[in-house]
Amino acid sequence: MEGLGSLLLFAAFFYLIMRFGCGAHMMHGQGGHSHAADKATKYIDPVCDMEVEAEQGYGKMHQGELYRFCSRSCLDKFDADPEHYLNKEQGGGHEM
Ligand SMILES: [Zn+2]
Repeated sequence: MEGLGSLLLFAAFFYLIMRFGCGAHMMHGQGGHSHAADKATKYIDPVCDMEVEAEQGYGKMHQGELYRFCSRSCLDKFDADPEHYLNKEQGGGHEM
């Protein structure tokens, strides 16, 4: 009887350690993780500069890069003149 009681006590103690230890760790890690995932799953529509989530909009491969568009009309605009939108996004050269 006493052995069983101390075993239960030990189990409860272990459970608390796991709960508090893991809980604190998970809460800490979750904040960073969700932030990182946020960045990873969002694309910038090069036509209208809107953020497009990976699950939404339209995707197109162009020169080995995946671009995503908020709507079909943005995709069509990009299709018509991809260089125009890509050069705009780089913003390397200001027109004098
Ligand atoms: Zn768009």
